[in-house]
Amino acid sequence: MMKAWKKNIRQVIPYVPGEQPKETDVIKLNTNENPYPPSPKVKEMCSRIENLRLYPDPAASRLVDAIAGYKGIDRSQVFVGVGSDDVLALSFLTFFNSDKPILFPDITYSFYDVWADLFRIPYETRALDDAFQIRREDYYGENGGVIFPNPNAPTGILMPLDGIRDILEHNQDVVVIVDEAYIDFGGETAQSLLDTYENLLIVQTFSKSRSLAGLRIGYAMGSPELIRALHDVKYSFNSYTMNQPSILLGAASVEDDAYFRETTAKIIATREWFTKEMRDLGFTFPDSKANFLFASHESVPAKEIFEAARKQNIYVRYFNKDRIDNYLRITIGTDEEMRKFLEFLREYLHK
Ligand SMILES: *Cc1c(COP(=O)(O)O)cnc(C)c1O
Repeated sequence: MMKAWKKNIRQVIPYVPGEQPKETDVIKLNTNENPYPPSPKVKEMCSRIENLRLYPDPAASRLVDAIAGYKGIDRSQVFVGVGSDDVLALSFLTFFNSDKPILFPDITYSFYDVWADLFRIPYETRALDDAFQIRREDYYGENGGVIFPNPNAPTGILMPLDGIRDILEHNQDVVVIVDEAYIDFGGETAQSLLDTYENLLIVQTFSKSRSLAGLRIGYAMGSPELIRALHDVKYSFNSYTMNQPSILLGAASVEDDAYFRETTAKIIATREWFTKEMRDLGFTFPDSKANFLFASHESVPAKEIFEAARKQNIYVRYFNKDRIDNYLRITIGTDEEMRKFLEFLREYLHK
């Protein structure tokens, strides 16, 4: 018999992150991590972490100021959180409170529908076109809010700034969130639109372009009114989300711009080279402006390649999902890692 208390349990289907294998001798191209270590300045700062006895600054001012200074905006326009997942989840809770459905693409970051379900936010998805592009007209109608990544994940396709502006023009009554997790790999940020659109929230992360997935730092940029609302919700939930080491190490990362530019440029160069090699092997894919390639082979099913690669300790991401189940999402690693992956493919595909 069903125990009565069970009906009061919140039923959720959680997000499933990519595998984090226990072995170390693997080529890990499955969760879009950066193959390069964080800035040496981050390591230097490690030895200067102190005062762990005390609660951290709940406003994470040192990190907020570093980001605001770097971006050339006011500190009242920056909110930091424990990875952009934390920032995005809080943003769903804070900004998506309409009876009308929020809108996002059918093929996108697979956490969005999980948060919508968790917070009981009504939502509708809008199908990408056959080339996996977001159709901006799909976001014109009445809705309770809009969210999409740019570049989109897992496609890697960038929407040009005029597309973002157009979606904002048609959505002045709701909050529009642009999730720029991959913007540093060659895309144009929507930051220049912040002055015009008070309802625009841009979310970025230290996990990919700053090689700090393990620290958990994400942030939002928006009008002071949006940022204040995020703080109010955060302080109603958990004041001390950002730990002291993250605040210090995150700030150290921001302060080393030369290293940031060098490593992102290396990844972009590897991506462009790898793209050509993959085309020669019979793969097709949309033009990627992210640190991954979303690729499909002309004759061999993606699932078979995924499984064969895994047997060789090469991890890529496969989504067993409608429309994209013949694609692999391959993170751009070092040149050496990509060479080994290509070697595996040549052998496997008899090329
Ligand atoms: C990786 C990713 C995030 C989350 O990154 P965090 O590690 O939580 O900062 C958010 N959105 C998209 C589209 C991502 O790919």
